[in-house]
Amino acid sequence: MLLRLRASLSDSERHSILKLCKDLGYSPKFLGRAESLLELEGPGRPEDRSKFEDHTCVAQVIETSDSCELTARPKNGEDTVVSVGSARFGGGWASLIAGPCAVENIERLLTIAGSVRDSGATILRGGAYKPRTSPYSFRGLGKDALDYLARARSETGLPIVSEVLDPRDVEVVAERVDMFQIGSRNMANAALLDEVGRTSKPVLLKRGMAATVREFLLAAEYVLAAGNPNVILCERGVRGFDSVTRNLLDVGAIAYLKAHTHLPVIADPSHASGRADLVSAIARAGIAAGADGLIIEVHNAPEEARSDGPQALALQEFEQLAEDVRALLAMDGRRLAGDSGPASQRNGAAGSDSASRDGARSDTLEATPGL
Ligand code: PEP
Ligand code: MN
Repeated sequence: MLLRLRASLSDSERHSILKLCKDLGYSPKFLGRAESLLELEGPGRPEDRSKFEDHTCVAQVIETSDSCELTARPKNGEDTVVSVGSARFGGGWASLIAGPCAVENIERLLTIAGSVRDSGATILRGGAYKPRTSPYSFRGLGKDALDYLARARSETGLPIVSEVLDPRDVEVVAERVDMFQIGSRNMANAALLDEVGRTSKPVLLKRGMAATVREFLLAAEYVLAAGNPNVILCERGVRGFDSVTRNLLDVGAIAYLKAHTHLPVIADPSHASGRADLVSAIARAGIAAGADGLIIEVHNAPEEARSDGPQALALQEFEQLAEDVRALLAMDGRRLAGDSGPASQRNGAAGSDSASRDGARSDTLEATPGL
């Protein structure tokens, strides 16, 4: 680690920063005669960087080699693989999460869930508590929606991801979902991050719409530091200046995150684009940049959706996207985890022969997670 010090420090300021270094167990060495760069060798604990950043004499902390933070990919370190049911993210595995923006009623949820499962999704999404930009928009059915999601899980076998907005709801949400979603508007909610960090349930952490990559990683650091290692990062688009799309999918951030953290990274082209006609192209860009999966808003009647209808894919559009993703992943030597192939091929090849082929395929998947 290097500390770039502020210009014209007094002797007592210099003494104070050197003392902090030593108190934390580092041996500090000035580089060059200007004495503005301090090289530190020492324990490299994740919490030390912010102690230096908070010191008045320090203008910048520069990581020289591997960062010591919990999110950082150690040199030649392996991916962390997060599993939820048959879905797996990281380590060469990709998975699709799909479902409505908000849970609206049980019939609709079951229709969407069955369809996305048959198309290749291995996790069902659905908002119960919705953090809408306007307080007058539909804010979700709350606990009833959680009950509908639990029923959809038992009828379809799909695990559930749903957003938790408030630390006080973590317990009730945890009882009914398989993965927490922390939304863009809550990425930096320290109390919420701490609370989900105290559980062992996977956390799908969305990037704040105006958050830097560093802030995003530090939000993930909260969850890891609280003891929960199961974090999936989700790039969902950042604010741009053009209203043609709702946000801008930061594909550079996906590639950066894949290189610099061991955590799985997925893309959300629905919120990035805000329009169904662009979701597929942006989704494929996310996968091409290295994303370990996608979260996609899907609806059986997008024109009737109570939330985010304009960006919802119709059921068949999602089926097509899943096929495109399979092809892209194959080009990269990767595969969808727990996938039994395109629904159209499965339906057309009924009988024991097709069952045994599917069985053989999943054995191969189990045996070759690095593919
Ligand atoms: C959502 O997933 O429906 C949602 C509100 O996403 P975001 O937090 O990314 O806006
Ligand atoms: Mn939405």
